[in-house]
Formats: sequence, C-alpha cells, structure tokens
Amino acid sequence: MAIMLLLTMRQAGRVRGTPLWLWSTLTAAIAIALNTSQEEIPEFFGYVVSGVLLVIGPMISALGTFEYRYHRRFSVRWIYAAIIVLTPTFYYFTFVQSNIAARILLVAVPIAALCSWHAWLMLAGSAVRPRAVGVKHVRFRIPHAIMVLGLLMVALVFLVRSVDTIQVMSAGPAAIPRGGSTRTAFFFYAVGLAGRLSLLIGMVLVLMDELEQELRALASRDALTGLFNRRGLSAAAGASSVANASLLMLDLDHFKAVNDDFGHDQGDRVIGLLARCAQANLPANAVLARLGGEEFCALLPQSDLATAQTSAETLRKAFHLETAALGHGRQHTVSIGVAAADEAITTLKALIECADQALYRAKRDGRNRVELVTPMQR
Ligand code: GH3
Ligand code: MG
Ligand code: MG
Repeated sequence: MAIMLLLTMRQAGRVRGTPLWLWSTLTAAIAIALNTSQEEIPEFFGYVVSGVLLVIGPMISALGTFEYRYHRRFSVRWIYAAIIVLTPTFYYFTFVQSNIAARILLVAVPIAALCSWHAWLMLAGSAVRPRAVGVKHVRFRIPHAIMVLGLLMVALVFLVRSVDTIQVMSAGPAAIPRGGSTRTAFFFYAVGLAGRLSLLIGMVLVLMDELEQELRALASRDALTGLFNRRGLSAAAGASSVANASLLMLDLDHFKAVNDDFGHDQGDRVIGLLARCAQANLPANAVLARLGGEEFCALLPQSDLATAQTSAETLRKAFHLETAALGHGRQHTVSIGVAAADEAITTLKALIECADQALYRAKRDGRNRVELVTPMQR
C-alpha cells in the first residue's frame, strides 16, 4: 500500500499534508508486521513498540488530512507526546502487570477515535459539513467519500473490538481468547481489511483528483500573468450568464515599439503590470483574461455601461501612472473599448466583438482612451 501511495505521489506531485499519509501507511505496515510476529520477536517489540505504532499510524494520517484541509501544520509535538505517554503504558501492561484486555483497549479506543476524527476532517465541504469553520480546502468528491467510508469502517472495527473486549473482560481476563471472539475476528479481518483498502484507494484517488484539478487550472490560465486564457474565460463566463454584464477590451498602445526599444523582457513586464493594475482597479468580481499577446479583456458582471466606463477610466489612468515606476524613461498607455450586454447581445462572443469595435475606435481616435459602444452606434 505504501509503495502504491509513493508511486502515485511521485506522479501527482506534492499536495499539502498528503506526505503524512505515506508515513502513516509505512508506520502501520511496520506495526502490523511486529504485531503479527509477537511469537518470534522479543516482547518489547511485539507488544510495546507495535502497540505504540498501531496508534501513531492513524494519528499521523489524520494530522496529514488536518494539514490538507486547514493548510496548517499540526505540531509534531503531539506525536512525541503520544509516544511518551503510550510507551510506558504499554510497557506497564506487558511487563509489570501483563493485561491483554488493557493492551487491546489501549489500541482500539484511540484508533476508533482517531479514525472518526479523521473522517470528520475529510467531510469538510460535504453535505454533512457544508460550512466547516477555518477550513481552507473544501472540495469533497467521490475520492474523499471513499476515504471517509474506509475510515468509518476501520473506526467501526475498533469500536466493536473495544466493546467486545469490555464485555469479555467483565467475565474475567482469563476468558479472552487470542485475537478476540469469533465475531470480533470476523470484523477485524473482513471489515478491517476492506476499510484499510478503501482508505488507501481513496488516498490514491484523492491525489489523482488533485492532479486533475491542477492540470485543469494550468490549462485555463495564462502563464505570464496568471489571468485566465481564452479557454479559461469561456469556462468562467460560461458558468454565469452575460446578461446585465459589461465587457472591457484592452490593448496596449504601440507595443511593438515597446518591444523594439526596451526588449521583449521589458515588454513582458509591461504586460504583467497591466494585469496587476486590472486586478487592483476593477471590481473584485471581474473576470479577467489575457486573450493573447498584449490584449486583455475583463467581464464585469452586473455592471451597466456607465459603471463599466468609470472602471475603465480608473484603470487607464492608474496604468499610465504606474508605468512610470518601470524606469523606461517614458510612460506607457492602454486603449480600452467598452460594451454592455442587452437584448441583442446575449453571448460572450457577441459582447467581445462589440467591445472590439469600440477598441478599434479608441485606437483610431488617438489611443490612451476609453471608447464605448452604445446601442445607437451598432
Ligand atoms: P497599437 O497601439 O495599434 O495596438 O500598436 P501595437 O504596436 O501595440 O500593435 P499590436 O497590438 O498589433 O502589437 C502586438 C505586438 O505585441 C506584437 C508583438 O511584438 C507583441 N507581443 C505579443 N505578445 C507578446 C508577449 O507575450 N510579450 C511581449 N513582450 N510582446 C508581445
Ligand atoms: Mg494587439
Ligand atoms: Mg497594441
């Protein structure tokens, strides 16, 4: 399982918190190996070390999910603390006062609790926890559900194991058969194995889901500015109707000359600056895209022509001022065409074409200006 997870991680890249899933799987593998070799190895390893590791494994993976969801690292001191408390306790119930029931409960109760907490963390963003406070990552899809299912199965196994042990214990410690009663044994092996497998498959699928998400984001973004590209704009705008929206088309003025005079790198800096100015000066809900070269567009939802014009003017002036800081010895300008959706313009494509006409006029009439397309002009 650990190897499978490792190979997936190498392919999917680093996702916050998930390396801990790998460490937890390795810890569990060592714990189970020690636990099942109790007859052959020294008791200290077969009972004490294996007991501690059996609890630490689920703890590490829950902490991994905590980091995955909250984007905060849980202090490793919690793990050290657990080791410091658990080691002498297992030692006591092995060598000082050997008590198999106590050892079983010491493993089963914490694992049931940790797996339930882990499932709870993973449920952030699902219908069960739609508004989880402080959670930074809330995507909940089928892979996450598979992990939750696996965790709940493991939690159930150890809950049954705990209840069973307490019941048998009341009949006297001598009554406890190795490995528990038959009912417990069934849960332990069948449901426990299915739970662990489903947890691992869930982890692998979550990593693949994250990879897909990252690739999707890359495919819809422009590398230089981080704004949407054409594909990203269509996807982002497609989700909402363009009704009541306005659109700005922007094109840097005499940009060939900028490249010729200062070099392509400096040209790229000007492009980056325009992107930042647009982010800073347009409304927060504006959908910004770099359509190619030095052409940008901004879709302003719920914005009429006059509001969009005001925004465009603010941006045009701000950009002109900011370019002074580039140290080119002269300032750069941008021309902007503005159009608003109405009964005749109902698609993004039509809105872009319309704003493009206005942009053409802005260029023709001297550049560094904002032009509108009013319904009369169409
Ligand atoms: P106008 O005022 O009419 O817009 O004149 P212009 O020189 O800006 O003309 P146009 O918009 O056609 O210029 C496009 C130029 O932008 C051509 C190309 O050299 C430059 N360009 C396109 N993509 C990039 C880029 O990614 N980086 C840089 N530095 N320059 C680019
Ligand atoms: Mg151009
Ligand atoms: Mg241009």
